[in-house]
Amino acid sequence: MEFKEIYCSRCKKVIGRYNIKFYNEDKIAELMKTNHVTHVRNGHEIEIRKFVKN
Ligand SMILES: [Zn+2]
Repeated sequence: MEFKEIYCSRCKKVIGRYNIKFYNEDKIAELMKTNHVTHVRNGHEIEIRKFVKN
């Protein structure tokens, strides 16, 4: 299974992991504006990376 992992380099932690089967780019962008907006608003550097788990 493939996931999109949202990592905050300021907090040094993964703040979300989403199965790409259910979350496309738009959906992830939406989550950045809702669930994870505090990081973005505080100027934290967010990295979206691929995470594969079998
Ligand atoms: Zn953060």
